[in-house]
Amino acid sequence: MRRKISNQFMIHYLIVFLLSIAAAFFALLMMSFANDIISKTLVKSIYPASMIMEDDYTEIDTAPIVQNGGGVQIVSDQYEVVYSTGINTLGTKNLTVSQFTEFLVQSKSKGIPYHYDIVYNPQGKFWLIVTFPTSIRLDFSLVYNKEAASRDMKNVVGTLVAVIIFYLLLLALFAAIFSKITALRITNPLRKLSEGTKRLREGDYSVRVDLHLINEFAELQDTFNSMADKIERENALRRQSEDDRKQLILDISHDLKNPLASVTGYAELCLKKADAYDEEQIKYLQIIYKNSQRANRLLNELFELSKLESPEFTLRLIKTDICEYLRQTCGDILPALEQAGFAYDFDIPDKSIFVLIDTEQMSRVFHNLADNVIRYNSEGITVMISLYEEVDKIYIQFQDNGIGIPAEVAKYVLKPFVRVEDSRNSKTGGTGLGLSIAHKIVLAHGGNLELNTDINKGCTFLISLPMI
Ligand code: ADP
Repeated sequence: MRRKISNQFMIHYLIVFLLSIAAAFFALLMMSFANDIISKTLVKSIYPASMIMEDDYTEIDTAPIVQNGGGVQIVSDQYEVVYSTGINTLGTKNLTVSQFTEFLVQSKSKGIPYHYDIVYNPQGKFWLIVTFPTSIRLDFSLVYNKEAASRDMKNVVGTLVAVIIFYLLLLALFAAIFSKITALRITNPLRKLSEGTKRLREGDYSVRVDLHLINEFAELQDTFNSMADKIERENALRRQSEDDRKQLILDISHDLKNPLASVTGYAELCLKKADAYDEEQIKYLQIIYKNSQRANRLLNELFELSKLESPEFTLRLIKTDICEYLRQTCGDILPALEQAGFAYDFDIPDKSIFVLIDTEQMSRVFHNLADNVIRYNSEGITVMISLYEEVDKIYIQFQDNGIGIPAEVAKYVLKPFVRVEDSRNSKTGGTGLGLSIAHKIVLAHGGNLELNTDINKGCTFLISLPMI
């Protein structure tokens, strides 16, 4: 099963965020722990006011406090600062009640840069104020007290749960958006590259990809583009050499036609003057004649096939009543079928159906099919030719119930030079080009030629052509 990259990203982000929540929670626990340890080692904890307290304030030992950077003030019950050493943050010597009360309130606040330890001595009737400057305030601790009012507890827990749920929802939303955006940054170039690859596979070698990126995808893009470049170049070269090869065959077959025709002609002429030669010479002449005829045939068919493949080849299409045309063609091949001792059955509708065909080329198709039936089958078989129309096409079925073609050969028999085993062909002198020529001609008409056959099941050639 394929999974979307954006969904996978979403899951990964959620996991990362949940892990970071766990890490944060762990960090808070550690902070609480650290707070505990650190607070015990701070000077303010080592020298609390209660430790140096004396009923007579003149006997209080303030030296260690001042040595450790702190300060000591004694404030009488009349709010007068009667003694001060080291840091003094009271500001004035004689305080009013409200000033002192405010100082007491302020001293408890957490945002101030000093730590105050204030103790009242009821015996001596004075306040002892020990002041230390605050270094780093670590004031965090997780506390749970079951004696806390249950209403408060509910409020706190409720609010906390609501905040956490809201936070998680927000987290999921951000993860979804963020995963979509990051996934797009990967899937977009991937999609473009895969589209390019598909077009390349379909034979469009001009395709190039431009991702407008400078990351690793750009490297992939460059590799893709240079690969497409190479394939395009090699393809052009291959096409060129293919064209050159076809042209060469066309030229050779054309140039050899005349000399060969003259060899056949002279051999034939000599054979006519049989009394001028002895028996052995006539035998050789016959071999020359027979083989030059075969070579002629091969050359002619090769020339025809090359012409069909040449870029200059065009059909001379004429609007033709295919029913009438096929009736005439059947009439043309009828004598040869009769002479071969074949039965025949033509089923052509008595109406006009028009198609665009090059009648000369199309005659070659039927001529080749008829020629094959006669050459490869013995008398007694039946040849059936029928025509029918379907939607926008006409179908011509050319069928015989003769020896057929083995299925494994039939798969390739429309390709040039494919023939059934030599023993069958040595008698008939085939070239293996007839069906391939017929196929190419039908294809050039925008139609198709299919073959349905097997050994001893006869051959059924089905030609389809577009109607107009
Ligand atoms: P060839 O010049 O050898 O006839 P084709 O391309 O016309 O070349 O035919 C290819 C092969 O298909 C032939 O060699 C022949 O064995 C076989 N073939 C073609 N038509 C028929 C048919 N009607 N019945 C049996 N075999 C056939």
